[in-house]
Amino acid sequence: MGDVITRFAPSPTGDLHVGGARTALFCWALARRCGGRFLLRIEDTDQARSTEGATRGILESLAWLGLDWDEGPELDLSKQTVWGTGALTDVTLGGDPRGVGPFFQARRLDRYNEAIEELIERDLAYPAFESPEELEAKRKAAQARKETYRYDRAALAIPRAERLARMRGGEPHVVRFRMPDEAIVVRDEVLGEVRVEADQLDDFVLRKRDGYPTYHMACVVDDEGMGVTHVLRGQEHLINTPRHVALQRALGYRTPVYAHLPIICNPDGSKMSKRDKDKTLKGHIRSLGAGADHLGAIAEAGGVSVEELEHWLGDKRAQLSPEALAKMAIDLGIVLPEINVRDFARSGYLPEVLCNYLALLGWNPGLKDEEGRDVERFGMDFLREHFSLERLGKKASRFDREKLLAFNGETLQRMPVDHFLSAWRRWLGVAIENRRFVHDFSLWRRLWEELKEDARGLALARAAQPRTKIFLDAIEHVRFALVDDDAVVFDEKAIRKVLHKGEPSGLEILRQVRDLIEGIDPFEPEAIEGAIRAWCEERGLKMGKAAQPLRVAITGTTVSPGLGETLALVGKKGVSARIDRCLLACDPGNNGGD
Ligand code: GLU
Repeated sequence: MGDVITRFAPSPTGDLHVGGARTALFCWALARRCGGRFLLRIEDTDQARSTEGATRGILESLAWLGLDWDEGPELDLSKQTVWGTGALTDVTLGGDPRGVGPFFQARRLDRYNEAIEELIERDLAYPAFESPEELEAKRKAAQARKETYRYDRAALAIPRAERLARMRGGEPHVVRFRMPDEAIVVRDEVLGEVRVEADQLDDFVLRKRDGYPTYHMACVVDDEGMGVTHVLRGQEHLINTPRHVALQRALGYRTPVYAHLPIICNPDGSKMSKRDKDKTLKGHIRSLGAGADHLGAIAEAGGVSVEELEHWLGDKRAQLSPEALAKMAIDLGIVLPEINVRDFARSGYLPEVLCNYLALLGWNPGLKDEEGRDVERFGMDFLREHFSLERLGKKASRFDREKLLAFNGETLQRMPVDHFLSAWRRWLGVAIENRRFVHDFSLWRRLWEELKEDARGLALARAAQPRTKIFLDAIEHVRFALVDDDAVVFDEKAIRKVLHKGEPSGLEILRQVRDLIEGIDPFEPEAIEGAIRAWCEERGLKMGKAAQPLRVAITGTTVSPGLGETLALVGKKGVSARIDRCLLACDPGNNGGD
């Protein structure tokens, strides 16, 4: 199977969505499994919507995921700095070893025009001159009659010689394909035989009024010209495939193997889209109560006007740019549901974990582990070895965020601590560079400075790792160690429960252990924990009796990493200062609570 050539063919109109990433992953995996080639083609014939920024973003997302393409636009990773935790480094991806490029469709117009001319010549395609308004009116009339709109071939009523003369004379027109009047059967590796009746298919457009080819035309010409043998793409494209097959036959091309991948949706069955971000953000803004001042500040953070913001809040169809949404969310300190690969990278997911999870959306290896459970956790090498079209499923896959989060947490928590530290550093370096993506910037920079220092970095990593599921959250587990001693905020409930109750009370214990702290040397996790344990045992107290009041004094809350680690991170001086401050602030005798 050395001749397998797969391609991923994104339209550069936005960031790479997880659905696209899953398609790319399967194309990559099939090519690797078969010792074939994986190529990347940029479908930028929609001139109004394609951007260079989106192309770059897609290339970077694929590289971050570790999906190296053998042919396609070049990306020199040694010059990449922004996506620091990527799976690939220091290589140049892409290139054109077989001479089948260029890989941007906008640079291949000659090829499409040549094929279109050939079809016109053979009367398998024809120019049509209706204006968009006329076509729209016909569409509406069909709708009113409750019929599916199909182009009525009105242009064919014009004698052929006249049609061609008008086209050559420069009259605005589209070129349509003369769809054969026969049913088309698509053989699909996932869905089996899919038969589409002739009356479902009309004479679709091959070249638009602006002279650019449609997706159908360019895709068919390129799949042939680039020698693509296997087309894997989302099920939403199934409707296009009979057209592609008919066009391939007309042009005498091969028909590649098709596999249409199941749709990925939210757990409630809705489509996974940018709308989910809108929903979360709108819900949050509404829950704040919409005072005018408030909206003004939020709009300013997003770089939009208050009117635009109000319109967006009130109208389901109104859209704001992804950047505006992201900026507002950061300003409000909330995280929007991740949809694009970039979102997952920013939240601190690991690329190989995301690939592992994506692979399970529509595919499974069909293997059991020693305990008889389905094999679900695997890396890229496993996919290279085991991926196959036979095990693709038909059913829509539900994107289970909890499961992905659990996968990521498991992987992070199992890493050797020094690996965890270097991955955390790399990720944080990117976050700091893109400061606009960070809510509490000064705290993050402080963490960055501290992580850079080896011993301190390791201590922070040890404390954060056991509870970190994504890097975005890791800072929360060590926040107490980054704030100034006099900036700890004591949680009311914790004060009542841990400091005021009990005999002796937490406050009393704090007063007593304060001296003990002074004497602990070296002030390191094990020594600290040993000293406090011994102190508790001498008095017949459970460890928690001392640990919880100390946690509240040091962090403000009852939840923190191991006690020894928590205290060691703050240092002896800091611990004493925090205990003193807590005794002063939380003693009911001193006006009760802070
Ligand atoms: N440019 C199309 C898209 O992004 C590609 C579809 C295909 O793979 O044929 O959806």
